[in-house]
Amino acid sequence: MDTEQFIAFEEEHCAHNYHPLPVVISSGQDVWVTDVEGRRYVDMLSAYSALNFGHRHPALLAALSAQLDRVTLTSRAFHNDQLGRFCADLAALARHDAVLPMNSGAEGVETALKVARKWGYQVKGVSEGNAEIIVCAGNFHGRTTTIVSFSDDPDARNDYGPFTPGFVTVPYGDAEAFAAAITPNTVAVLVEPIQGEAGVVIPPTGYLQEVRALCSANNVLMIADEIQAGLGRAGATFACDLVDVQPDIRILGKALGGGILPVSAITANWDVLGVIKPGEHGSTFGGNPLAAAVGIAVIELLNTGELQARSLSLGEHVLATLRNAGMPGVKEVRGSGLWWALELDGTGPTGRDISMTLLERGILAKDTHTWTIRFAPPLTISEQELDAALATIIDVVKAAQP
Ligand SMILES: *Cc1c(COP(=O)(O)O)cnc(C)c1O
Repeated sequence: MDTEQFIAFEEEHCAHNYHPLPVVISSGQDVWVTDVEGRRYVDMLSAYSALNFGHRHPALLAALSAQLDRVTLTSRAFHNDQLGRFCADLAALARHDAVLPMNSGAEGVETALKVARKWGYQVKGVSEGNAEIIVCAGNFHGRTTTIVSFSDDPDARNDYGPFTPGFVTVPYGDAEAFAAAITPNTVAVLVEPIQGEAGVVIPPTGYLQEVRALCSANNVLMIADEIQAGLGRAGATFACDLVDVQPDIRILGKALGGGILPVSAITANWDVLGVIKPGEHGSTFGGNPLAAAVGIAVIELLNTGELQARSLSLGEHVLATLRNAGMPGVKEVRGSGLWWALELDGTGPTGRDISMTLLERGILAKDTHTWTIRFAPPLTISEQELDAALATIIDVVKAAQP
């Protein structure tokens, strides 16, 4: 089958809940993927930051195959010999006491919301059924019914009601609005330290520190959704580290499974996580030994700090290069670490049009919200590979202007 036939076959049998670019990938290695026609591309999306270590990183494949030879799933009805180590290592990385493992990012978010509500009733003393959680406009936290209840993206939300109550939305980056929304029933704020799906939106200086201070002053839990921003992507182990903020609950996913398995988790201290007792939350696959073994190897890759440092310094190089390129039709270049977005001014081709041209030129990237193109190459990308990609991006954006 050729590309068109693969796409038609998939369209016929798979729900149309995505609108992928027309490329059919059949193999990948580090930053490169190959399509069914044998064409090669640099992956500058990294599965929305799940492939921070590139495709098929040898250390992750080794951990995977060693565990495949032992045991893959036990359920939490029994213990397995990988879970303790995974939780210990992740808690240490996150500077928290403990971990609750799940699978997808959305499940991690749901877990954080449930823990925060239970903490609100049992520890803070909010009266039953009245817990409020503050969220930010423009957020993306996943696709469950509860999570889309507090999305303001009509595509994510429309016709999925009735919605879960108990959420209050404030503008992102506005600490005063957050302060004004806090009531005695507020149990938590859920915030992305950098908004990913919104288009790599970086909050104003001091915002996260102010949110942290307001949470501490008002006995409100700060929940940082670092599913996309964390694990090296933004130029530090966690994006909150860039501004020296320690949240009460961290949500991790995507790269936590090394681009191999869905692995998510929340990390917190016992005064928070301790509210969950046996039988009150769980997942058949959450904490499975295969996922834990890969997760341990992921944390080992991060423990040296080398990839985070690469992300930070190469990210500065990217921003300088793109900002100096004088690209017409580009309203803003913003980013943090190896994670950046070009925001188009809306007068020329759309983000999708440009992504299509980039595809033809051997670069995989994806638009978000029509006028923004988001880039997130594997943190393992070499300087030469990065510079070649940047030259192509600049060339394509310049040529795209009418
Ligand atoms: C991707 C993402 C999620 C959802 O993760 P899934 O694994 O797709 O459920 C949640 N929050 C943020 C910030 C994300 O980028």
